[in-house]
Amino acid sequence: MFLQRTIRKKVKVKGIGLHTGEPAGLAFRPAPPNTGIYFVRSDLPGSPAIAASARYVQATTLATSLGGPAFSVSTVEHCLATLAAFRIDNLFIELDGPEIPIGDGSAYPFMEALLGAGLVEQEEPRKYAYITQPIFYGDGEKHAYVVPYNGLRLTCTIEFPHPRIGKQKIDLDVNEPSFARELSRARTFGFMKDVEALRAKGFARGGSLDNAVVLDNQDILNPEGLRFQDEFVRHKALDALGDLVTLGMPLMGHLVLYKAGHDVLNRLVRKILESTDSYRHIELGAGLPEAVGAGLDSAWGFR
Ligand SMILES: [Zn+2]
Repeated sequence: MFLQRTIRKKVKVKGIGLHTGEPAGLAFRPAPPNTGIYFVRSDLPGSPAIAASARYVQATTLATSLGGPAFSVSTVEHCLATLAAFRIDNLFIELDGPEIPIGDGSAYPFMEALLGAGLVEQEEPRKYAYITQPIFYGDGEKHAYVVPYNGLRLTCTIEFPHPRIGKQKIDLDVNEPSFARELSRARTFGFMKDVEALRAKGFARGGSLDNAVVLDNQDILNPEGLRFQDEFVRHKALDALGDLVTLGMPLMGHLVLYKAGHDVLNRLVRKILESTDSYRHIELGAGLPEAVGAGLDSAWGFR
């Protein structure tokens, strides 16, 4: 049976915020079984907390933010993607400001910190949302859907009319080794022509070649080049995995995305939550056909 997980001890990550450009730090802290994932604004009076839930997603233009009228937490997706891949169900993420540190623009610093703290299994079984029928959300040509699958699989396609990007596609079973190898180091990216406009609106003030792949009209400006030839689609897959955590329970299904950003993902997650006849809650190893459990074990690299 798959048990819930948290981390063994508190661990910190320091850096700057991508949009504010201000110093931003966080601490991952273990949480009891059945807590879920919470962001805690330790810098504010009373240390208000907010769950990583689709109902609190409020801004999806450039990054995923969670919040309400009084406070918010932004750029949560790279951190959340790491939790999804390493099956961390219960965690407090304590912040000393409104933004998660951007690190190098990938999920790598979070993975390093969490694995450094160590993962521990808890006494309660993990409860999955097991997709039983397709659920679709589309907005023009952008779309996203989930179909039944014994595991977590992600297929992501992007198309940008840029000589260094074009059409890129990735398809993978998401597990700890595949995340570490294929997705964790893929960096966020942006276009130089958008930077001035973004900065005027208060975004991307901390953005630099140290924490993003930046492109002009023809080429990549980073002197070190790309980490993968298709780093762009890998990063979009990473973002999607993070946004999926706002479902509030681990997904068992195949997620397929075409040109889908944070906005489309948030709509799909909300639609999944409303489609209660298209998924059921399962605990792995309890009530699942034997073949499904066996397939999942091997797909996730546990055998
Ligand atoms: Zn991202």
